Amino acid sequence: MSVSRFTPGSGQEPDPLALRPADCNLGHACQFCPREPECGLDKPHHEKRLLEKRLAQIGQIILVMANKGGVGKSTVSANLAAGLAARGFRVGVADADIHGPNQSRFFNLVGQRIRINEQGLETRACFGDCLPQPVRVGSLAFMMERDDTPIVWRDAYKHDFMHHLIGSFDWGPLDFLVIDMPPGTGNELITLADLLEQQAVAALITTTPQEVALMDSLKAIRYCQDRGLPIIGAVENMAGVTCPHCGGEFHLFPRTHLAEALASLEVTSLASIPLSPLLAMASDTGHPVMLDQPDSPEALAFAPVIDACIEHARAVGITAATEELQSMTNVAGAELAVALEGLPEHERKAAQQELEALLAGERQRLQSSSGRS
Ligand code: ADP
Repeated sequence: MSVSRFTPGSGQEPDPLALRPADCNLGHACQFCPREPECGLDKPHHEKRLLEKRLAQIGQIILVMANKGGVGKSTVSANLAAGLAARGFRVGVADADIHGPNQSRFFNLVGQRIRINEQGLETRACFGDCLPQPVRVGSLAFMMERDDTPIVWRDAYKHDFMHHLIGSFDWGPLDFLVIDMPPGTGNELITLADLLEQQAVAALITTTPQEVALMDSLKAIRYCQDRGLPIIGAVENMAGVTCPHCGGEFHLFPRTHLAEALASLEVTSLASIPLSPLLAMASDTGHPVMLDQPDSPEALAFAPVIDACIEHARAVGITAATEELQSMTNVAGAELAVALEGLPEHERKAAQQELEALLAGERQRLQSSSGRS
């Protein structure tokens, strides 16, 4: 086999194979770029920068997962996102369910198509009377020619799409990105967990009370625990039915040892969401109960989930700020020691005490703001 080699000459000529390190600053991956075939820029560098820039603008990321299909991941994702947005947060929903991207339906965006521009792939917005700003939705559904087109992709494509979902969609600044995960603990989950490793990311487990669903959800919990992914808690969906005629409650799914199973894995049970025609209808019509019927028992049942996610994000923010303050304290202390070297002992001590008091006050302020939340 012969291999052609580029042999540098005097060292003056440019290497024709060398990629230019400059970034084009386009907001989408090279795969979407019409200039990609002739582009001489460093593509892996661009993809890395793109992800970094997007993630720098996103606060808390929540993976809504179950391992099992049909237990309510999309329902929980949509209502969580709507509930967070109703409380004034900037929220995005990323639909990672490649084979069944339903978020377009849950937010009444079916049939909408998106374009690509210099900022990236457009998201679609769900507006609501009670929303200070819309929920932004990013989904493969907006990129298909028809809504019933099946996705027949091998793993490499799925891996790339997970990168596009975070990096190429133009999310803008967000307080929360809710990711509606597909079933399973395979490619999509592993890719996202790798991609988001350095981010504020946590899982929200969805399950139904049935043994068969619980068994699968426990695998999702084990995945998170093995991977060191924090779990905000579990949502028990389809937890009971209220008879529309007599108002009596009954359980459609056999109740198992859900509570003990969650407790034994140290996962908090956050809420029980009833099996209700209102929720089923809301998904089909694309009007999440959190927006359309915020005072209904179904919407109120989601409130502890929303509280827990906000609380988690706050705690993560406080920890990050405290760590930042600690590292600033160390640097400031070292710089102060150098600056004060020439001063007499008592003046040096007084200045150091002043700095410590200042930083202690700041720490106190951080702690009390976390207590207030
Ligand atoms: P997953 O994302 O886990 O596949 P979905 O959220 O898409 O599950 O829910 C599957 C179906 O069940 C949807 O049609 C949804 O409207 C319905 N559904 C989910 N939760 C409830 C509920 N609590 N009450 C009534 N219908 C529900």
